This record gives sequence, structure tokens and C-alpha cells, in this order.
Amino acid sequence: MTDPASNTEPGRLAFQVTKNLAAASPAEREEKLTDPGFGTVFTDHMVDICWSEKGGWHRPRVQPYGPISLDPASAVLHYAQEVFEGMKAYRHADGGIYTFRPEQNARRFNRSARRLSMPELPEEYFLQALHELIAVDADWVPGGAEQTLYLRPFMFAKEAFLGVRPAKKYGFYVIGSPAGSYFSGGVTPVSIWLSENYARAAEGGTGAAKTGGNYAASLLPQAEAAEQGCDQVVFLDQHGNVEELGGMNIVFVKKDGTLVTPASETILDGITRNSLLELAADRGHGIERRPVSLQEWRDGVASGDIVEVFACGTAAVVTPIGTLTAAGFTDEQPQGSLGLSLREELTDIQYGRREDTRGWLRRLDA
Ligand SMILES: *Cc1c(COP(=O)(O)O)cnc(C)c1O
Repeated sequence: MTDPASNTEPGRLAFQVTKNLAAASPAEREEKLTDPGFGTVFTDHMVDICWSEKGGWHRPRVQPYGPISLDPASAVLHYAQEVFEGMKAYRHADGGIYTFRPEQNARRFNRSARRLSMPELPEEYFLQALHELIAVDADWVPGGAEQTLYLRPFMFAKEAFLGVRPAKKYGFYVIGSPAGSYFSGGVTPVSIWLSENYARAAEGGTGAAKTGGNYAASLLPQAEAAEQGCDQVVFLDQHGNVEELGGMNIVFVKKDGTLVTPASETILDGITRNSLLELAADRGHGIERRPVSLQEWRDGVASGDIVEVFACGTAAVVTPIGTLTAAGFTDEQPQGSLGLSLREELTDIQYGRREDTRGWLRRLDA
């Protein structure tokens, strides 16, 4: 099998592009972009690259968005070898399309892949795949306030084999889904349920990998949270330290301006969190990455030492936490303005309203 990377520039794949003949008309697209919500509308195309033990990464394609045909014995359907990423493409006022720190997503994708015994995708291929999708679907990047094209790269085991070992065939895909403002009615604090019956991850487990199984494990505790009238669930580790929400990291703001966030190998290391903390550090805030016990959280709120708590991740950027509820208590959380101020600074950079002095943006349409 020839490596398509060999008949083009080094580090670049020669994509075969098949245009979608049933692509949405401009009018249909505009209609779908008016109020896209989250995760139900998809662009006209997708990226698809194969990996096999013999051929490495091969058959890079851009093709019409549509169903993937899988053998019922495909390993992912039985043993969950799957990893993914979540990122956004932003349309700037000048029409240009940018994404945010994509090399961070590419590296994390490969860390996740290693943990799941999956092949790594060279960073250049990951980035090129984003460019290839935008090259055909640029019109799907909405330009409204707080709108984005959510990009979902993912990889799964597609070898048909029921034996338990790393698969020998994988597919890498990128799909795009236009997304509206996460908070349609303005940013409102969320209520959090403390999961005491369930864990999301364990030491030595897959907590630091962005893999579907972690989300599968979080659904029942999330349903429990909903039964208790809460929006989101927060998890503790086996030592009673705070980990994170189902899909967002958590940050505590102390009275002296220090930002404290849990550090643990069981947590997904969020790019949003790292970026917000960098912005805060540049404003002169102290940053502490260390274990935070539930006791420290509750005591800090009670004593006034903690003045604000927020969650953060690509989807909502920053979400203030309004209450923490567990079986025996509800703690009202103090409301501050730092999280939202950092949110504004970060989104201003992402949407090109503020200069990107850190080299965080990458243009995708040029
Ligand atoms: C993706 C994710 C986050 C947030 O990461 P970002 O890079 O900021 O989007 C946090 N926790 C979990 C479990 C996640 O999967």
C-alpha cells in the first residue's frame, strides 16, 4: 500500500475530495444557521482517514456527510476503543475563519489515543484535516453573536474482531456542527449535584483521556443530578478531592484573588481552563493547581475565603456555579465577576475582537 504522504509534500496528505451533490442550498443552510442549537445540525461534508497496521494513515478523503457503514463485529462497538476532541471555528468580522489552539487539541488527542492503545495521528494531519473540512464547508461557519462551527474530530476501532486486543484498523473523522450561543438567555449560574454514589474516573484509569467511556460512566450520575433538580454533576476522587464536572473543569476563586483548580491524573486537562488561567496570571492573579477537598470547598464558602466558583470548557467557555447540593445539604455559592470577565477576554480573542498576542488563533480558511 502506498503512503499518500509520500507523493506530496512531507507532513501533508493528498486528500481525495468528493463534493456532496445533495448539499444544502444557500437558503436551506441559512435557515439551519439561524438557530442551530447544539449538536443536531451538520455540515455537508466530513473528513475520513483510515489507519491500518500495514498501511499506516492512508486514504485521506473529504466526502459527503453521511452514515458510516460498520461490520457488526467492529471492535469499537464491543470494547469502546474511541477517542475524540471538541473545538470551535469562529468567524471574524472580516469574514476570516479561525480556530483556537488546535495544536493543543492535536496533542491531547494523541495522549488520549496512547491511553486507549490506538495509533497516534501526526499533528500536521490533524491540523490539515481541519483545513480540508473548512475548504469545502466554510459557508457553514455562522457569523452571528456567540455562534461557532463546533468541530468534532474522532477516531475509533473498526477492525471486525471479537478478541480482546488493540484493533489493527481505525478510522479518523472530522465532522462539523454549527452551534448557537450556549446561553440563549444570558449566562446564568448552574446548580451542581455532588455525586457520592458514582465516580467518573479512578487513579490509573482513563479520566485524563477524552474517550466516550468516561461520558458513558457519567450519564447515570448526571441523570441522578437531574432527578435532584440540578443542572450538572461534580465528581470526587477516592480521597474526597474535587475532580471536575461531567465535561467541564472547575476553578475556585479565593478572597486574595488566587485561582485554585484541582490537579489530578484523573481529570481531563482542559484547554479552556489552561487559557483562562493564563489570562488570569497575566492580570496578576496567583494560580494554584493542587488537590482541593470537598471540605476545603465547603469551609471556604462558609468562611468567605472562596468568593466565586466556575466551571469551564470549550462548549460554554465559563459557567458560574450557583449552588452545590448533596444528599444532606445545599450550599449557595458566592457570585463574583472574575469568571465572566475572563470569559469575555477569552471570547474577544477567539472572535477577533481583541488582539491575539499569544499566537492562540490559527486561520483555517487560508
Ligand atoms: C473536553 C472536556 C473538558 C474541557 O476541555 P476543553 O479543552 O476546555 O474543552 C473538561 N472535562 C472533560 C471531561 C472533557 O471531556
